[in-house]
Amino acid sequence: MENPDFKAISELLSHPGTIVVITHTNPDGDALGSSLALAKYLQKKNHQVTVIVPDPFPEFLSWMPGSSEVVVSRQEKDRAKTAILNADIVIAADFNNLSRVNDAGHLVKQSSAIKVLIDHHLYPTDEFDLKISTPGTSSTSELVYDFIQSGGDATLLDKEMAECLYAGIITDTGSLSYSCNYEKTYIIIAHLIRLGVDGEHIHRLIYDTYSENRLRLLGYSISDQLVVLPEYHTAYIVLSAEDLARFDYQIGDTEDVVNYALSIKDINLAALFMERDGIVKISFRSKGHFSVDKFARNHFEGGGHSNASGANCCTPLTDTVEQFRKLLPDYQSQLKSVY
Ligand code: 5GP
Ligand code: MN
Repeated sequence: MENPDFKAISELLSHPGTIVVITHTNPDGDALGSSLALAKYLQKKNHQVTVIVPDPFPEFLSWMPGSSEVVVSRQEKDRAKTAILNADIVIAADFNNLSRVNDAGHLVKQSSAIKVLIDHHLYPTDEFDLKISTPGTSSTSELVYDFIQSGGDATLLDKEMAECLYAGIITDTGSLSYSCNYEKTYIIIAHLIRLGVDGEHIHRLIYDTYSENRLRLLGYSISDQLVVLPEYHTAYIVLSAEDLARFDYQIGDTEDVVNYALSIKDINLAALFMERDGIVKISFRSKGHFSVDKFARNHFEGGGHSNASGANCCTPLTDTVEQFRKLLPDYQSQLKSVY
């Protein structure tokens, strides 16, 4: 147990209580997987648990055991409010800054609950009383596994929890292709398989369930909307609200689109600009030492990981893209050699 708060959190959770597990906006596989596995573990420890997400999760995650009981705070404001304000403990999973959960963040701040963080993003805020915050770890799902295991509760892990954790780890590591260049993740995966996870089946559920529109939106993004700037080792894709409407955009449909821009040889910085819900959502990805966490934090009030970050901007789409393009000359030499 390297983290001093591991033990304190275990002790805190040793008496049954009322707990809210909350995760970030645009919930992804790790956000939902880690939250649902943690919730089931806590239920087995006789806690009353509510899982809250700020906005809906993609359809390709709806197979996750327990997902139908999740409270979407944007749609069920009162239920979310009551749960947060009545909780003894609020656990923030897979994010580290209460501004990342919109209105629910204000409620968490107001709540007298003990605030616990389980997360792997860089630079947590000091809004939490106890923290498991390890940016070197593949995923929050891996941290949840660790927490359960090192607390001596490995026997409480079951197939459903394992499926959630497996999905969280593979979605946050591009199916074990980044952020897991160490043995431990594979040992955990082996244990999850032993618990009954069918990895091929979960892959199909997550990656082979595109709608025709989603695939066509991907094709359009790459063939029509991709801009490549070889002199800056940068590529980006811009999707307007009209583009999204044309392909009947559903939540999750643009997940992974930005990675195609990064897959080009010698492209070290990729971005996706997407006009959605009246704001511009940006996804940044990078290779090697170029930190898109810093880039997003310094210029767009965003953040995330060193090689994958995001931001939400209130400036119009074309202005946001222009702002991005104007920054590139300052980074030209950094972007040239990232290894
Ligand atoms: P994505 O591009 O997949 O939405 O996000 C990439 C990573 O950056 C994720 O780990 C996500 O949690 C984080 N991220 C996305 N948007 C924001 C943001 O607006 N602020 C911060 N701090 N992190 C973000
Ligand atoms: Mn994560």
